[in-house]
Amino acid sequence: MKKIALIGSTGSIGKQVISVSNRYPDEFKIVSLSAHSNRIEFEQQVNKLNPKVACLDICNGDITVPKGVDFYSGENSYLNAVITEADIVVVSVVGFAGLKAVLKAIDLKKDIALANKESLVVGGEIVMQKAKENGVKITPIDSEHSAIWQALGFDLNKEFKRIILTASGGAFRDLSKDELFFATAKDALKHPNWNMGSKITIDCATLVNKAFEVIEAKWLYNTTFDKIDAIIHRESIIHSMVEFNDNSVMAQLSYPTMEIPIALALNHDKRLCQNVPQLDFKALKSLTFSEIDNDKFPCFKLVVNAGKNGDAYPAVANGANEIAVQAFLDGKIKYCDIFSIIDGALNAYTNDAPYSLDKIFLADEYSRQYAMSKIK
Ligand code: NDP
Ligand code: MG
Repeated sequence: MKKIALIGSTGSIGKQVISVSNRYPDEFKIVSLSAHSNRIEFEQQVNKLNPKVACLDICNGDITVPKGVDFYSGENSYLNAVITEADIVVVSVVGFAGLKAVLKAIDLKKDIALANKESLVVGGEIVMQKAKENGVKITPIDSEHSAIWQALGFDLNKEFKRIILTASGGAFRDLSKDELFFATAKDALKHPNWNMGSKITIDCATLVNKAFEVIEAKWLYNTTFDKIDAIIHRESIIHSMVEFNDNSVMAQLSYPTMEIPIALALNHDKRLCQNVPQLDFKALKSLTFSEIDNDKFPCFKLVVNAGKNGDAYPAVANGANEIAVQAFLDGKIKYCDIFSIIDGALNAYTNDAPYSLDKIFLADEYSRQYAMSKIK
């Protein structure tokens, strides 16, 4: 039985991890849980799962937890859910906060099932280096990276010629550039194929998510940017592909679901996930592919370039994006301002200090301040 520490239990991924784990009680047990501020949902989860440790960063109101549960609250308390008793740490918090959880899991030499892509975007080089030094395996939950991992026969070090990430195109794929000017957060939250947390759904509508996934693939598969392509595949049936030296391509297909990637990240030795419907090929009229329109979605190239520049630039792009996305969700800025804010933060950033974890945290702080000053 695998003991799971679940960091970010109340989110879209967190809840699906709980349902996969509940479906296979002989395989998995959740031994610790964390959430940020959703007290009601969290309280129900803790009372149902009876973990060893439960952490809620912001606890507005009373909370009742079963006797014997170690309960933590306060700033960064979520890190207390990364515990030595766990066999695997699922990092499914959203945003920069994921980095600290990943680093703590690595320090404790715990394998990681990773949904939080931002940790690899901002600190991929350091994370992968430390994981290697500590013998920690990082398995992907992100569906594209899971598809690649499956196509590689679950071998993160297998040789390949090219990775081809697929992208649905997000909620605004059919809007013209002019129409994008009037696009609202409510519209952006209507993702055509996936039901996810609000931040990643906005990232899909700007294609920042796909740029993050390019950077995530670079670090997970220890490769270079010239070996990673991204294409629009509207149907979200092919979750990504790998091309080998003989130009043979392996793809992974299924209806859009996170349950397969979650079950595999937790235990890839057995294909456990039994409740995803069989693909009905006759009903799939066509599978289509097209290029990303960089004119309509300039954030994609901008953020990939930040990844290529390396150093703390991806952290700058991520921090500015997090603030801009929240402001867009709050109706404070327009869709197009997300690009301007990330671009502005990247252009204004300078720091000649050598690359380090401290530099990443400073870049994150700087870019948030920069973005907030533009929103005011
Ligand atoms: P959600 O917004 O649905 O959930 C986020 C989770 O993180 C919640 O449990 C939330 O707690 C917690 N959280 C939020 N802020 C903080 C913080 N500052 N510190 C600690 N915990 C925090 O996100 P998703 O589940 O959609 O996404 C989670 C991660 O997985 C993201 O990095 C995303 O990019 C990635 N991912 C998601 C996919 C999906 O299908 N949803 C697919 C592929 C990747 P609370 O509810 O209390 O606020
Ligand atoms: Mg994805």
